[in-house]
Amino acid sequence: MSSTKPTSPLQSPYEETLEPSDTFLRRHVGVTEETVSSMLNTIGYKALDDLINDAVPENIRLRKELNLPNPIGEYALQRELKKIVSKNKIYRSYLGLGYYSCITPAVIQRNILENPGWYTAYTPYQAEIAQGRMEALINFQTMITDLTGMEIANASLLDEGTAAAEAMNMLFSLKDDTQGKSFFVSQSVHPQTLDVIRTRAIPLGINIVVGSFKKMVPSSDFFGAIVQYPSTDGTIYDFSEFIESLHKVGAKTVVAADLLALTILKAPGEMNADVVVGTTQRFGLPLGFGGPHAGYFATKEEYKRNMPGRLIGVSKDSQGKPGYRLSLQTREQHIRRDKATSNICTAQVLLAVLSSMYAVYHGPKGLKQIASRVHRMTTILATGLEKLGYKIISNPYFDTIRVELSKISSAEIIHYAEEREINIRQVSGHVISISLDETTNLKDIKDLLEIFNENKSLHFALEDLTTKEEWKIPELLERKSSYLTHPVFNSFHTETEMLRYIRRLESKDLSLTTSMIALGSCTMKLNASTEMYPITWPELSNVHPFVPENQTEGYRTLFSQLEKWLCEITGFAEVSLQPNAGSQGEYAGLLAIRNYHQSRNDMHRDICLIPISAHGTNPASAVMAGFKVVPVNCDTNGNIDVEDLKKKAIEYKSSLGALMVTYPSTHGVFEASIKEICQTIHDNGGQVYMDGANMNAQVGLTRPGDIGADVCHLNLHKTFCIPHGGGGPGVGPIGVAEHLAPFLPGHSLVENGSNNSQWAVSAAPWGSASIIVISWAYIAMLGFEGLQFATKIAILNANYIAKKLESSFPVLYRGNKGLVAHECILDMRGFKKTSAVEVEDIAKRLIDYGFHSPTMSFPVPGTLMVEPTESESKEELDRFIDSMLAIAAEIKDIESGVLSKEDNPLKNSPHTADMVISDSWNHSYPRERAAYPLPWLRTRKFWPSVGRVDNVYGDRNLVCSCIPMEDYAV
Ligand SMILES: *Cc1c(COP(=O)(O)O)cnc(C)c1O
Repeated sequence: MSSTKPTSPLQSPYEETLEPSDTFLRRHVGVTEETVSSMLNTIGYKALDDLINDAVPENIRLRKELNLPNPIGEYALQRELKKIVSKNKIYRSYLGLGYYSCITPAVIQRNILENPGWYTAYTPYQAEIAQGRMEALINFQTMITDLTGMEIANASLLDEGTAAAEAMNMLFSLKDDTQGKSFFVSQSVHPQTLDVIRTRAIPLGINIVVGSFKKMVPSSDFFGAIVQYPSTDGTIYDFSEFIESLHKVGAKTVVAADLLALTILKAPGEMNADVVVGTTQRFGLPLGFGGPHAGYFATKEEYKRNMPGRLIGVSKDSQGKPGYRLSLQTREQHIRRDKATSNICTAQVLLAVLSSMYAVYHGPKGLKQIASRVHRMTTILATGLEKLGYKIISNPYFDTIRVELSKISSAEIIHYAEEREINIRQVSGHVISISLDETTNLKDIKDLLEIFNENKSLHFALEDLTTKEEWKIPELLERKSSYLTHPVFNSFHTETEMLRYIRRLESKDLSLTTSMIALGSCTMKLNASTEMYPITWPELSNVHPFVPENQTEGYRTLFSQLEKWLCEITGFAEVSLQPNAGSQGEYAGLLAIRNYHQSRNDMHRDICLIPISAHGTNPASAVMAGFKVVPVNCDTNGNIDVEDLKKKAIEYKSSLGALMVTYPSTHGVFEASIKEICQTIHDNGGQVYMDGANMNAQVGLTRPGDIGADVCHLNLHKTFCIPHGGGGPGVGPIGVAEHLAPFLPGHSLVENGSNNSQWAVSAAPWGSASIIVISWAYIAMLGFEGLQFATKIAILNANYIAKKLESSFPVLYRGNKGLVAHECILDMRGFKKTSAVEVEDIAKRLIDYGFHSPTMSFPVPGTLMVEPTESESKEELDRFIDSMLAIAAEIKDIESGVLSKEDNPLKNSPHTADMVISDSWNHSYPRERAAYPLPWLRTRKFWPSVGRVDNVYGDRNLVCSCIPMEDYAV
């Protein structure tokens, strides 16, 4: 790697002719040497290091340089990376098991997957500036309910394996006392799905029974069952009778179904399935060595309140027009903490959007044609194989066949396939499985047939096989019902129309391409183009997750380097990249703790202490991992109440399993007592789980491992630059100390470096494998000094905002020296009494100023938590500050009576163009004040596409699929 190690972190290449021009740090951070001094001056410091020394407690400071590579420039990185990834071998893969090659329509790839207007958006909590992606997600929900034949679907889950585990979990929580704790898993469910289900079942005390669904004897022992449709071996069955027999004993059935197959096969809903789960991967999502892909989950209306994940609904806005929103938001499962039935937070929004667009672009006829073609290809292959003397043992089938060999071994066939750079699956010594897909053509069929002819030419012509139209799907299993009849799936089938539809939706959403999104806890930093560029390279996107190890040297190099770097950054012995969201990291980390205790015969250590300020996923994950949650109080400064912690640690000494602690705290302060807290837990036999969502304040300054944590998850989609994608994808790796390493999540089909094949928490061995390169690139381009500098600037920016706003909005919590960490909480609760203004009014009024609101009401109700990150310039921070100060002045005007308490710019916000242009403007303040409250808005106005969306109405009248086109009128 060419070294561009700077002598000063912000050194520019301008003074040195021979310095490379592609250095990255100065592009990643928003500040210059001049703005740093002026901001420091505002806060009352001379040097950046003085500020950092006062903000970060002395006893946890890192005292050495981390062993990370020297930073590499942006251009140099792409060349270096190309060398690494070209070691991946791109074979044609017909391995199936829920992963298929498919064609990402270029119009979708270029305008969504590769477009920051889509991928840098945040989770759609501010409905008025997220209508575009919520429309795409409503399309997704409609696509899922239509194809599965179910009543309601969410948007979305992490992958098929976790969706299946979530389904089991939901049925378990719905079961009554007369039912036993057994869950039946058909032996023809995909093996990785079974693994994820097994992992999930153990801590909950669920008994997994694996067997043939045909031989299963339903009884009151079972609360549920899962079957695969088509089965993992390719066979299609009608499960109607099976489902009926389970219903008779009060048990419910989950069908894991292939979406493409559902376009020509009878819908599971028509078999009376209770839950249908799966993946939308083959709807245009690149294989990416296993992820990220969107899982789906559909069920009956009556279980809507038990459903995991996020649900988009239709409501109306302040003008009575339709507006989308996250429904039942207060019921988003993880918010219910230890009462939650799921810990899902970040899911796979960008992937759900992409797959919904695939359906929009192809429409029902196009999808059916793709499925029919895949099926036809499969029948041609099967006929050819029979001609060659082989027996097809999976009948009837859709796209997957099992071939029985008699005169030749599987190993020999695999060898012939290898010679042609083709992957097919060896099921046993004499059975091979082949799954075809959208990309398969007749030339591929010929190649496959020749493999089975020992790589010799065929004694018949391929044309002989295609003369007769074959359809191997039995009448009874054929799809008769219609689907995707809504106009949205039948209007945009040319590229021009599609492009404009995508662009129309994009323009309704505020993303990082518009302005800063200062979301506390979520670290919306730069997602650099150079980091994002490689994710659609074929060397990374065209790899099936279960290919032989020797085809993935490039991927493995990236993983092992990134693991090593993350170990160095966190101070841990090992890292697992498998968890595909922060919540899954929490779950995997707590499982490691649980298994560690059990390995030492400490079966009874099942208490998990969690401060009341913790993120909702913490208690939800603890329950999933089999712990009982005991809350710990916080003091008036927002710190963990150390006395209460000690009291509880001692009280539960004999059963203490773990503490979950976020650091810096969710209140945005570096607690000075953190080491003492960790020690207390260890002294009483517990393990320390650190929630690393706030790692952006630690990188290069301190390390979880040094502080005393035993395990910590990182949100690569926060600290390490993976974009939020409008609510996912995520990557939530965990770092662990040596003693927990044997309990990291493994995989039964692929050796992923964990030294075990159990405890899988994701369907794919490395979870969201293809986007891990983003974080790899970030670290490679910054190096130790750059990472450390970024952290310092993140802390500087937060303190600058706190200082500038403190006279108008009280800063709720601070550390010892009056400083905050990388975010600050602004208290809005006082305004309710003086002006009737609530925190939501301020959040919505910020939209009129062109900003996305900071985190609202977490961790303290009635507050805003601001996290500017290191990527924002002083100019952008000042624009935000000026907007907040202008809002403070508006509140003052309400307090003094200049503006009315009921009719003012805050209460009526956000103002749409429609509202201010209307001929009937009858508010007590002028239109100009509504829409252009500050001068610069005239040149960079972002118009919300709807007025304030009514939450209560939406929840009372739950509509979660596409609304009739007429309703869009006016
Ligand atoms: C974001 C976050 C999580 C959950 O991470 P996901 O990736 O959304 O599952 C957990 N804890 C804290 C403090 C967070 O900010």
